Amino acid sequence: MHLPQRTLFAGCLHFLSQAYPLTYQPDSSVSTPAAPLPMLAGRNYHCQCGQPVFFRNSQCLACNTPLGYVPERGRLIPLMPGPQQNTWMEWRPQAQADAQASAGDGNFNGQVQPSSNGNGGISAMAAPAIAGQDQGQANADAAPLYKRCYNLSTPARCNWLIPVDDPLNLCRACRLNHTIPSLNNPAQPDNGYLWGLTELAKRRLVSSLILLELPVKSRMTEDPQRGLMFKFLRSSVGEPHVMTGHDTGLITLNLDEADDAKREAIRKAMREPYRTLLGHFRHEVGHYYWDRLVAGTPWMDGFHQLFGDETISYADSLKRNYEQGPPQDWPIHFVSAYASMHPWEDWAECWAHYLHMRDGIDTALSLGLGLDRSDLEVTPFTREDLYQPDHPEAERFLAFLNHWTRLTTMLNEMSRSMGVPDFYPFILPREVVSKLYFIHQLVVSHSWMESVQDAQPPVQINPQESEPGPAADKADGGGQNEHGNQDEAQAEEHPQAQPQPQQMPTPSPQPV
Ligand SMILES: [Zn+2]
Ligand SMILES: [Zn+2]
Ligand SMILES: [Zn+2]
Repeated sequence: MHLPQRTLFAGCLHFLSQAYPLTYQPDSSVSTPAAPLPMLAGRNYHCQCGQPVFFRNSQCLACNTPLGYVPERGRLIPLMPGPQQNTWMEWRPQAQADAQASAGDGNFNGQVQPSSNGNGGISAMAAPAIAGQDQGQANADAAPLYKRCYNLSTPARCNWLIPVDDPLNLCRACRLNHTIPSLNNPAQPDNGYLWGLTELAKRRLVSSLILLELPVKSRMTEDPQRGLMFKFLRSSVGEPHVMTGHDTGLITLNLDEADDAKREAIRKAMREPYRTLLGHFRHEVGHYYWDRLVAGTPWMDGFHQLFGDETISYADSLKRNYEQGPPQDWPIHFVSAYASMHPWEDWAECWAHYLHMRDGIDTALSLGLGLDRSDLEVTPFTREDLYQPDHPEAERFLAFLNHWTRLTTMLNEMSRSMGVPDFYPFILPREVVSKLYFIHQLVVSHSWMESVQDAQPPVQINPQESEPGPAADKADGGGQNEHGNQDEAQAEEHPQAQPQPQQMPTPSPQPV
């Protein structure tokens, strides 16, 4: 058993410091020796006033500048009003001055009141004088125009932006919703709050999927055959329990998972070291991508070699898992006890870890959390630990992987210093490393693009009219909650369709 996070030794600092980049290169899309894996977009954002702002923010809390997330760029940007009502553009000193000078029409409504803070930000007062009306107008014309996601004005508090010419009023994350919880149920007054937490985790997931260039199309409006959609339900008294799971592109999540106390109680009962909303999403979307990217493709050979035969009975595997528990030697073969239940669950657990690692490393490096001054060393994984060690991607993946083990070992110690649970309560055995590398090869191959058919014309589906029947839950147990109790069954659904207003209301940004 390979235990890199527990086996410490000194002497390989030089090797590792050469192998991994210690400075962040925000726009590096080209692999270089200093960048083992192409960076995504990082999570380090700043307002025009210089203050750091965060993925969830829709407004700078220091200067009130509206903020919006551009999923294609992976950036949270400061905004200023665009030339038409309810349009927005990235904040620019010249364009702002131009708008102020030429509008006088109230379009620039004073919402932006930046101030100089000495942190390198550009204040409105310090903005350079208008170089010329033409110059300002040229900048304004060239800037992409956006509109706000409709869900900014709902408890989802979505801060994502949409190209102004997109016919939909929901962003790329919100348009994936098939069903949202009732927001006016007096018996569940906190549905809106819990839904907001759920949507925030989902946006984090979707942002990574987009930056990894994975297919992320809505089954509701963009790809009715192969798209993805989400259903958020909550159990009600006297009704069957809602199960979290995946069924041919539909991911159902029990809203109770957003309730910390309830989720923690289940985590403890299930003896899981880690249970989060984001973890649920990353696991469940792994089932979707297995269907979408692996099933029926040449990748099946590698899948069988590493994960096993997925045709073995899922129901029998589930029954065995609940009756006998995981095999004693599961830590040698699997990333979690649950992964030992069935090859599909092994795949989904590894997929979730791959997304944890990509987002985690990207976040760390973008915030300058390098390890160049760290005295902590862990036994590095080597080529022999990889699936297809001679693959051209092998060295880059190894550097990435070893950075992750060092980073998480350090962060675990930081967690312990605060008396909170470990940041990353897992150990990666060699077999899991091979599985992770297989997933990495799949993700960077873009192999699915070769089979992409001509785009289907978007079909607008009214969720209230298109509730699918309780189809067998192929990946998660045919009616069993994959993480919950065995006696849970599909709930009777009371969906509330996502609003699709004909008239785009004016969202009022709220600081979040
Ligand atoms: Zn600001
Ligand atoms: Zn949205
Ligand atoms: Zn699963």
